[in-house]
Amino acid sequence: MYIGRFAPSPSGRLHFGSLVCALGSYLVARKRQGRFLLRIEDLDRPRCSDFFTKTIIKELEILGFDYDDKPYIQSLHQDNYFDAIDLLLKNKQAYYCNCTRAKLKEKECNCNLHQETIDLNKPYSIRYQIPSTLESFFIDELQGKVENTFTKSSITLKRADNIIAYNLACVVDDILQGVTQVVRGCDLIDITTTQRALYKSLGHEPISYLHLPLIMADSEHKLSKQNHATPVLDTDTPENLLLKALKVLKVNCENIHPQMSCQKILQTAVDNFNFDSLNRKNRIFLD
Ligand code: GLU
Repeated sequence: MYIGRFAPSPSGRLHFGSLVCALGSYLVARKRQGRFLLRIEDLDRPRCSDFFTKTIIKELEILGFDYDDKPYIQSLHQDNYFDAIDLLLKNKQAYYCNCTRAKLKEKECNCNLHQETIDLNKPYSIRYQIPSTLESFFIDELQGKVENTFTKSSITLKRADNIIAYNLACVVDDILQGVTQVVRGCDLIDITTTQRALYKSLGHEPISYLHLPLIMADSEHKLSKQNHATPVLDTDTPENLLLKALKVLKVNCENIHPQMSCQKILQTAVDNFNFDSLNRKNRIFLD
């Protein structure tokens, strides 16, 4: 059974890029008669808030999305991430690190080479040692062959402030939720090979990936909550917004019009959805 998910971070309201991503992951899951899950990635507490968690859930409801389970809120499942870290430490695939952020910017961390000198009374992070057997590429269902461009030798699993990093939480939950394909924006394509390695280190075969076009604010920046992208529901009616997002994804909209309810628009879009016509660009500039 296909299991897909949409995994927003509640650091702001939904913007048009998040809508395209939610819609793309929804259409693929529903077209494949799979299950569709909503996961709220709220571990970065300084950036996320329960207010935005509630707001995003409400906004997705207004846009007509439905799920096969109640939303999975990462901050309520902290133990799972610490268990994964224990396993990686035990298998020597993770290590303790006293490097400051400033130091990490200057040079790569090599704390794995002198674990006996790490002071656990000082703030410490835990890092994943990316294995030398890392794949040089993976095949993305939409983007095709994607070469690995990530050259660092380690990534953060747990920050010194005790916050679990996105890459670990995402992989742990995709495994626990039985996700069979990750559909998300192309901004995360470069870290995918490392996430696939993490899958293997946690004893699982990596799953399939489909990276959707990224909606750009300008030639260098994606639309993002951090760049204060306009909340999408402030810009148009939910029905018009769904239509716009469907057009961006290149879904046939001939029999879809804004007088239909959001649920009807989504249902018709699932019927019309055709993988071959899905927009394969990795970036899209809106006019
Ligand atoms: N939470 C991530 C974001 O909002 C998405 C993670 C993912 O889909 O893997 O950018």
